Amino acid sequence: MAEGSPAPTEVAPPGVNINVPHSARIYDYWLGGKDNFAVDRAVGEAMIQAIPGMRYMAGENRKFVHRAARDLVLKEGIRQFLDIGTGIPTRPNLHEIAQQHEATARVVYVDNDPIVLVHARALMISKPEGRSEYIAADIRNPKSILEDAALKDTLDLKEPVGLTLIAILMLLADADDPWSKVAELRDALPSGSCLAITHPTADFNPAEVDAAVAAATGAGMTLVARSREAVSRFFGDWELLEPGLAPVSAWRPDAPVENPEAAYYWAGVARKP
Ligand code: SAH
Repeated sequence: MAEGSPAPTEVAPPGVNINVPHSARIYDYWLGGKDNFAVDRAVGEAMIQAIPGMRYMAGENRKFVHRAARDLVLKEGIRQFLDIGTGIPTRPNLHEIAQQHEATARVVYVDNDPIVLVHARALMISKPEGRSEYIAADIRNPKSILEDAALKDTLDLKEPVGLTLIAILMLLADADDPWSKVAELRDALPSGSCLAITHPTADFNPAEVDAAVAAATGAGMTLVARSREAVSRFFGDWELLEPGLAPVSAWRPDAPVENPEAAYYWAGVARKP
C-alpha cells in the first residue's frame, strides 16, 4: 500500500477525502477523538514530533473556549454566538457552555469541512429554550455566511453577537487576506458585540513551531503561525478586554498556570465600542 493511502478498514463518509490531511480531523486526533484517518494521524504525529506539547496545546485551546464563552454570557451579556471554524463536535461544545449559563443562548456554527457537516447535525442538540444551527460555508466568503438564511433566522444582527474565531485563522494564507475577511465580519455586527480569537504563534518557541508548520505544509496544508502584532490586527479598533492579547493559558485562568507560554497560542477577546 502506498504511503498516505487509507488503511483498508477506513470508510469515508460521502464528500470526505481521506487521501489528504484535514485540519479538523488532525485536531480531533490530538483531542483523542475517533473522526480521523490514517493520513491525518500521520501529519498529526509528525506535528507532535515537532511540538511534544501539541495535545496539551489543543486542550488549553478548548479550555479557553470554555472560559471565554462563560465570560461572554455572564460578563458581557452576549446571548447569541457566531462560531466560524467549529471543528468536529467535542464536548462541551460552545452552545452547551453558553446554555449552561443562559438556556436561551443561540449559536450558529460554521465550517467548510464535509466531515464536520456529517457530525454537526446529530451532535449539536440545543436546549429547547435556545437554539443551535449549522452552516456549511467558508470564512473566505463572509457574505455567504452573513446572508445565509439559517443565520438570519437564528441570530438578530441588531443585537450584540459573540463572534468566535478559535484556531481557524492560521489555516488562511496571508494571500487570502484574512484581516479583510475578519473586518467584513466585524463590520456586520452591532456595538457591544465581542470577538474572541485564538491563533498559534512562533513567538514563544520558534524552533518547535517552525518544525510543526514545516510538517503540515510539507503534507500540502496551509498553516501560518503569526506574531502578536499580526494577530492583534484581527481585532481592528475593537477594545481588547482584560488581560488583552495573552498566551492562551494566561487568559483569565481558573487556576494559576506555571508556564503560560507552554501552549503556543495568542488569545484575546475584544468588544465593539
Ligand atoms: N474551533 C475549534 C476547531 C478548530 S480546528 C476549536 O478550536 O476547538 C479548525 C477548523 O476550521 C476545522 O474544523 C476546519 O475545517 C475549519 N476551517 C478551516 N478553514 C476554514 C474556512 N476557510 N472556512 C471555514 N472553516 C474552516
